[in-house]
Amino acid sequence: MKINEIILRHIKMDLLHPFTTSVGTEYDKDVLIIEAKTDSGYSGWAESVSIKEPIYNEETIGTNLPIMKDFLFPLVLEEALDHPSEVAERFRSIRGNFNAKAAVEQAVWDAYAKEEGRTLSEVLGGTKKEIDVGVSIGITETKEALLEKVRDFIDAGYKRIKVKVKPGWDIDVLEAIRETFPDIELMADANCAYTLEDIDHLKKFDRFGLMMIEQPLDHDDIIDHAKLQKHLQTPICLDESLHTKEDVRKAVELDSCRIVNLKVGRVGGLTETLAIHDLCMEKNIPMWCGGMLETGIGRAHNIAITSLEGFTYPGDTAPSSHYWERDIISPAVEMKDGIIHVPDRPGIGYEPDGDYIETITLYKERFTSIRK
Ligand code: MG
Repeated sequence: MKINEIILRHIKMDLLHPFTTSVGTEYDKDVLIIEAKTDSGYSGWAESVSIKEPIYNEETIGTNLPIMKDFLFPLVLEEALDHPSEVAERFRSIRGNFNAKAAVEQAVWDAYAKEEGRTLSEVLGGTKKEIDVGVSIGITETKEALLEKVRDFIDAGYKRIKVKVKPGWDIDVLEAIRETFPDIELMADANCAYTLEDIDHLKKFDRFGLMMIEQPLDHDDIIDHAKLQKHLQTPICLDESLHTKEDVRKAVELDSCRIVNLKVGRVGGLTETLAIHDLCMEKNIPMWCGGMLETGIGRAHNIAITSLEGFTYPGDTAPSSHYWERDIISPAVEMKDGIIHVPDRPGIGYEPDGDYIETITLYKERFTSIRK
């Protein structure tokens, strides 16, 4: 295959509801969308999970732009590819910048699947035809408001509830949820809000029978998480700390994590995702797909990877209507009884709504290959 044109779009979408975690609140979403066009006329789509501020990881929309334009696009446009996994190989000499790399690489995977006339799920080796869906609930104004949300989401069919926690918004909140909903699949995500000094406090989480506690300690730590795990019955799941298969190998060897939250953007793309998936299968480490408030395009990629066998827990792949008044794909991602059907149309299986995307585009630029 040959990618001969890449279109970069910066769009802005309003979130239906603000989303608060231990690191901040998001009201709207600026997103970089990548469209990679092949010489045979197919378009592959993906998005960067970077936001405007470097508060999840060090990347931002502002840092993605020059990395893509100066380094990543030229490496994709320069020569034909036999397979999309070669993109990761070409990007290997570029350090870090995982979100930016993933966005470009994923667009090529989608284009490849479309050229082959196969679904992205199939070309990745996915076997599931439907996936279980969980939901992530941000920090709310009051405990009552949170309980109401949990009730609504359980009624809507979600298979597991994840709540964001931080010091001062944790034990009481989990207690209240467990009193009202003793049997639901429940987990907590701390987004790095604690330190090892909180061991005694974090041990109190054990009484709530959580599926896992996600990333309690620092964003780049795998040592202290292993120390903490020794004191907890609740399995630790890592998110922010894991960028590569090697990171996962080391974390598993140290027993820093017993479950992996996989975000394609965080690990630099689908090729690394597959490598991590194989390692986790071999080591019996369950995985699930985390969310980054993606538009329908990123969500479609998440659905495709969740169709892989190793993604055993429900992911944060809620339907379009959970986040957006109007999504940028057609059809919208729909959920019924907590299940999303993996689409059987080629590529990501959802068509980007070009006319609508045009109306919310703040900036657009085309890049073409020098050698045709
Ligand atoms: Mg997380």
